[in-house]
Amino acid sequence: MSVRELTHFVGGEHIPGASGRFADVFDPNNGAVQARVPLADNSEVEAVISNAAEAQKVWASWNPQKRVRVLMKFVQLVQDNMDELAQLLSSEHGKTLADAKGDVQRGLEVVEVCLGAPHMLKGEYTESAGTGIDVYSMRQPLGVVAGITPFNFPAMIPLWKAGPALASGNAFVLKPSERDPSVPLRLAELFIEAGLPAGVFNVVNGDKTAVDVLLTDSRIKAVGFVGSTPIAQYIYETAAQNGKRAQCFGGAKNHAIIMPDADLDQVADALVGAAYGSAGERCMALSVAVPVGEDTADRLIAKLTERIAELRIGTSFDEKADFGPLVTAAARDRVHEYIGKGVDEGAELVVDGRGFVLEGHENGFFSGATLFDRVTPDMSIYKEEIFGPVLTVVRARDYEEALRLPTEHEYGNGVAIFTRDGDTARDFTTRVEVGMVGVNVPIPVPIAYYTFGGWKASGFGDLNQHGPDAFRFYTKTKTITQRWPSGVKEGDLEGAHVADTDHFVIPTMD
Ligand code: NAD
Repeated sequence: MSVRELTHFVGGEHIPGASGRFADVFDPNNGAVQARVPLADNSEVEAVISNAAEAQKVWASWNPQKRVRVLMKFVQLVQDNMDELAQLLSSEHGKTLADAKGDVQRGLEVVEVCLGAPHMLKGEYTESAGTGIDVYSMRQPLGVVAGITPFNFPAMIPLWKAGPALASGNAFVLKPSERDPSVPLRLAELFIEAGLPAGVFNVVNGDKTAVDVLLTDSRIKAVGFVGSTPIAQYIYETAAQNGKRAQCFGGAKNHAIIMPDADLDQVADALVGAAYGSAGERCMALSVAVPVGEDTADRLIAKLTERIAELRIGTSFDEKADFGPLVTAAARDRVHEYIGKGVDEGAELVVDGRGFVLEGHENGFFSGATLFDRVTPDMSIYKEEIFGPVLTVVRARDYEEALRLPTEHEYGNGVAIFTRDGDTARDFTTRVEVGMVGVNVPIPVPIAYYTFGGWKASGFGDLNQHGPDAFRFYTKTKTITQRWPSGVKEGDLEGAHVADTDHFVIPTMD
């Protein structure tokens, strides 16, 4: 297979890498290297920022409605090219085609909400806040902003950031994951085709070297990050030290609480999809099931085991596959190491996915579904994010013990409760210390006009992604207090006067 050489996308054009450094992009279905992605050095990133800074001035001068017309066209173009984008995404990530379409679609939904950005960008106005004094505020773009995104949603997360950033009049520099950069590059082409001025949306490929330039260059005004928690914390701290806004979203350990009154067939169906879909490489994957009571646990394990036996693991292009390979061999090996640790720590391995081999694709990065029972909170397979097709079951004696598990866990991204009892669900949604909660909904990713964000080690910063928070994050507020001295309108130019004011006292609106 020939190895494609990927580029950066700067000023409306594909630019080859100049650093001489590359990373391999694999085909996870067969383990082959299918492309090399250039890793930018400092001067290349600085050139992207210079280009974006110039383009931003023009873009910000367009009126908000004219800007969103470009996004409207972009939405149409992405829909028209959905099959090709999904194909590209599947081929580098390894998620199934149907799931890849979902990745693009969930990103597009945020861009659709951004079509109403002129409304979100309106300021406030108070007439006669004091005698002859009006006060108003306006939202202005920040300038050039950066997005640093993970491998697991190569369309959705870049669009969650770029949509509101562009609609607000900023230029955007995206540093996508080096593991699957082709979809972001294709999105950059579609932005140009939609009429976005060159230089307003740029893709710079790279690793820590490129990221560090984005974090320290004073022309970058805000950084949006999604990825693992240690990097999220590093980006948040470094961006803040350099005077930038930052919102950084990290890893997860999402629990599902299963009450004894839940419909266990529905729960088991929901759990296998949410635990093993996309090979567990979702920040909202359910990785911990907490059945309440021994009887609930025994019945649940039996139903899960039945369903796991029926799972179809195939290539990302197999239309009947429930899930495909992991993104890299390193990702698969890391998952298998965790399974080994779980066994060593004394968890009961009910189904072991390590031996799975797909015939004809022996070098693909596949792992079967794994199920652990009798996991306890002190085990590393409970405490740490595995990010693979591994479901751990922690048995809880009662509701209070079940509630304490996600509440006291280091991560706080998503959680779900399965019950038929409204009172229990209401108590749970009120008290649990997690940012996104599902009631009989396994993956409660909020829709585009609400905000998305986890708590505790799953999120650093004070504003969430998409929804109204995104427009606050990507704009700065200017507040104007204006006073027009009286007299001129009466024709008394000479007599125009300033009302008596004590200039030495802090002004109040008495
Ligand atoms: P990652 O942290 O390895 O990489 C994320 C980004 O950071 C990439 O662009 C990468 O190039 C860059 N990066 C990596 N190491 C860096 C370093 N030392 N310095 C600077 N930049 C660096 O994450 P990943 O493996 O691509 O993605 C999986 C992780 O993302 C999981 O932990 C998952 O839970 C998390 N995630 C979280 C959310 C959320 O909304 N909370 C959503 C999706 C994924």
